[in-house]
Amino acid sequence: MIVGGGIHGAAIARDAAGRGLKVMLAEREDYASFTSSASSKLAHGGLRYLEHMEFGLVRESLSERAGLLKTAPHLVSPLKFLLPVFDWQKRSAWFVHTGLALYDLLSLGGEMPGSGRLSQDEVDALPHLRRDHLKAVLHYHDAHADDARLTLSAALDARARGADVANRRAVTAIVPRENGYTVTISEGGKTKEIGARFIVNTAGPFVDAVDAMIPNGPSPKNIRFVRGSHIVLPMPDPPETCAYTLQDEGERIIFTIPWLAGNFLMIGTTDIPQAGAPGHAVCSAEEKKYLLDAYNRYFARAGGAATESDIVCDWAGLRTLHGSPDEAPSRITREVTLETATQGTGGFLSLVGGKLTTHRATAEQVLTKLQAMGLDMGPAWTKGVPQYGGTLDRDALRTRAEEGPTEVSPQTRRRWAFTYGDKIEYLFARMESDPGLAEGIVPGVPRVELEHAVSVEDASTGEDFLWRRTKLQLTLDDAARETIEDWFVKN
Ligand SMILES: Cc1cc2nc3c(=O)[nH]c(=O)nc-3n(C[C@H](O)[C@H](O)[C@H](O)COP(=O)(O)OP(=O)(O)OC[C@H]3O[C@@H](n4cnc5c(N)ncnc54)[C@H](O)[C@@H]3O)c2cc1C
Repeated sequence: MIVGGGIHGAAIARDAAGRGLKVMLAEREDYASFTSSASSKLAHGGLRYLEHMEFGLVRESLSERAGLLKTAPHLVSPLKFLLPVFDWQKRSAWFVHTGLALYDLLSLGGEMPGSGRLSQDEVDALPHLRRDHLKAVLHYHDAHADDARLTLSAALDARARGADVANRRAVTAIVPRENGYTVTISEGGKTKEIGARFIVNTAGPFVDAVDAMIPNGPSPKNIRFVRGSHIVLPMPDPPETCAYTLQDEGERIIFTIPWLAGNFLMIGTTDIPQAGAPGHAVCSAEEKKYLLDAYNRYFARAGGAATESDIVCDWAGLRTLHGSPDEAPSRITREVTLETATQGTGGFLSLVGGKLTTHRATAEQVLTKLQAMGLDMGPAWTKGVPQYGGTLDRDALRTRAEEGPTEVSPQTRRRWAFTYGDKIEYLFARMESDPGLAEGIVPGVPRVELEHAVSVEDASTGEDFLWRRTKLQLTLDDAARETIEDWFVKN
């Protein structure tokens, strides 16, 4: 029984189902509705963790990044980062250069271009970067990922392998029994009891609340919540084609990332300790100002400084971390922590921390631990295996989109290819058998896509579809979004 359908719960369900285990996953709201849709959306090694000497974490993340680029090419793509160094910054160009060389070394075999330094001509051609006190602009590669769809793809793959996976299914009580637990789940207005020999708690910010459902569970953790927020601006003109890694006045790092076919610029993140009970985190006015100030400190746009009125959208997520109360938020390790308790021949495992990038390896680690606790299962299998929708590489996806039915615009077909991957075939096949499904509910969104979201991808609200199945929330106008929300209410 897996509690929580963020990236960790979904990845563990996928791995476990593929090893022949009988698996149920319960997600109380929608898949990825908490941390796993609020990340910086990077599949990265985490350059800054090198400073904290977390070489193991960086090496593992870089290896997983390489794996994701191959196994989920529709959702994870290479991204070039520029790293400007100014003479007022704490880290010198030499120091950053050495860090990048080490990053290259740790990513050997990952097939990404190496790091380096831009020539003066290349620096002169950068559209908006301020030049005062600029010492050098370095470059390196990482990858961009669709966090919510990666989560969904693991959940759907788990289902395809036989797991009973559902959203809007909450775990409300857990009672120990002789060899395992009786779990109460609430779903569709009804409650029922399920027997589970092993429980995996991947409830993210709610990990403590789920642990507290059992007596003699894992020992209380030193949990700290650290809020991270992002803002999104329209892409300035001329557009930025590279992401930037910016050092703020202290130790923090801020990314600016071209997003959604280069139409937007995502800027994040912050590191704000959050007290009290977890819930849906919100980007505060101070955080918006901090991110705008950071952006304006580095970039000059033709239209003047970016202001709050330029922000198209924002979001915040909670990092659930294990750390002592006196440690600075950005210094607390992002390594995953697993704690266990036994119950006869059964047991309970709870997970804290981790990264989107390393979710596959973390799932493997969890299953190894459960195996050591006496759960019989097949061998590890996920390394190198395509994720749901991930069997076509990026070129093949582009070709497939071009060849698709002409009733759908080329733009929509391209969007579909990098949303649904090889499952674009489902949409094409359904349209072939029922041409009425090509009807546009709003421009660029044929009926077939909404029906697919409901019948295959478990979407049940406009928000599920507009924010997590797609990112149409940002590209459709108000009237179109409202039409889609109404469609979900009526269907
Ligand atoms: C601001 C920010 C930026 C980040 N950026 C990156 C990045 O760029 N790259 C990277 O690799 N990592 C990044 N991370 C880390 C990564 O996003 C997280 O490690 C990961 O998403 C955590 O996933 P999770 O499955 O553990 O938790 P969550 O995604 O929070 O999932 C927990 C789920 O459990 C469900 N749940 C809770 N209680 C119950 C219950 N009783 N019954 C059923 N369901 C329940 C919740 O509804 C929720 O959906 C970032 C994190 C943050 C906060």
